[in-house]
Amino acid sequence: MLDKLRIVLIGTSHPGNIGGTARAMHNMGLADLALVAPRCEVYGSESHARASGADALVSSARVHASLEEAVSDCTFVVGASARVRHLPWPMLTPRALGERLPRECTPENARAALVFGREDSGMTNGELQRCHAHVHIPTNPDFSSLNLAAAVQVLAYECRLAALGADDAPDMPFGVEWDNPPATHDDLERFFEHLERTLIDIDFHDPDNPRQLMARLRRLFMRSHIDSMEMNILRGILGAVNKQRRASSRQEYHDGNG
Ligand code: SAH
Repeated sequence: MLDKLRIVLIGTSHPGNIGGTARAMHNMGLADLALVAPRCEVYGSESHARASGADALVSSARVHASLEEAVSDCTFVVGASARVRHLPWPMLTPRALGERLPRECTPENARAALVFGREDSGMTNGELQRCHAHVHIPTNPDFSSLNLAAAVQVLAYECRLAALGADDAPDMPFGVEWDNPPATHDDLERFFEHLERTLIDIDFHDPDNPRQLMARLRRLFMRSHIDSMEMNILRGILGAVNKQRRASSRQEYHDGNG
C-alpha cells in the first residue's frame, strides 16, 4: 500500500522543506516524491543536508509543471489544508485517511496522492477542487498551520500505521469486488473539460458568471468515485449531446439558406 502512495508538494520555496519531506517519507517507508513548480533549488546542498540520509528520495524526486501532470495517473487524490474553505469538500481526519487508504490502494491500477501546498499561501481553491477529499490535521485553531515537512510527517505516519494494521485480505472499495478499475485523475480532468465545454455549448453554463457551477459538479463527481466504465458512459453521453447539437445547427443553417 505504501508503495502506491505519492507525496506531492506544490510550489515549495524552501529547499530545507524538500529535504525534510524526503526524510519524513523515508522514515515512514514512502518513496514517491513529486514536486510541482518548485520555487527553490531542488537538488542542491540544502535539501540534501536536511534529507540527512534520505538523499536518494531528493535525487529521484520528479518535477512537474502542474498538479494535473503530477497526479494524472492517480485514482485517489487528497489535499492537505490548514484552512477550511468556503465551499465545503469531503473532509477526512488524518486517521480516517489512513483507514481509507488500504481499500483505495486495492485495485490493480490504484495510485494515491497526498498533496501539500506552498509554505506562504497553502493550496488554491482550484487545486483543492482537483482532490477527492481534503485532510485537515486538527491543530490549535489559533495557530493551525504546521511547517510543511512536519505536516507531511504527521500524515505519512498515519498512513504507515494504517498500512501496518491493514489485513492481508484486500479491502474492497464498496464492500464487494468491483467490476471495473477506478477512473484516473487524467480521465476525470478530460471529462470535466468536456463537460464544461458542453454545458457552455448548450447555454447552461456562462463562464463569465460561473457561480461555482463547475466546482459543485466537480464535488459531486469526485464524491461518487467514478470507475472507468462509468467514465466511458459519461463521455459517451456528452459525445451524443455534441453530435445532436452539431446536427441541429447544420439543420438550422440549411433551413435558413434553403
Ligand atoms: N499559510 C498556509 C499554510 C502553509 S503550510 C495557509 O494558510 O494555507 C504548508 C502546507 O502544509 C499546507 O498547504 C498544507 O498542505 C500543509 N499543512 C500545514 N498545516 C496543516 C494542517 N493543520 N492540516 C493539514 N495540512 C496542513
